Amino acid sequence: TYVIAEPCIDVMDRACVEECPVDCIYEGARSLYIHPDECVDCGACEPVCPVEAIYYEDDLPEQWTVYREDNAAFFHET
Ligand code: SF4
Repeated sequence: TYVIAEPCIDVMDRACVEECPVDCIYEGARSLYIHPDECVDCGACEPVCPVEAIYYEDDLPEQWTVYREDNAAFFHET
C-alpha cells in the first residue's frame, strides 16, 4: 500500500484524491490518509503530490515509517 507521511499535515493539497482510481484517499482533520485495504498500489498519487508526502510503504524515509501505522489506525478508529 501507499502511505501519506508528514508533509501532508496542514497542507492537504488533494491532488492525489483526483488521481486515485479507486477513491481510497480520505480526509482527516489535518492530513489525508490512504486506506491500506483499498489501495491497489497503482502509484498514480505519488508523483502528483506537490509536497512529496506519498511513498510506497517499503520506500518510506526512516523517520516517517510510523506513518504506515498512522494511516491504518485512522481507519480502524473511525
Ligand atoms: Fe490510490 Fe493508486 Fe495512490 Fe493507492 S497508489 S492511493 S490506489 S492512487
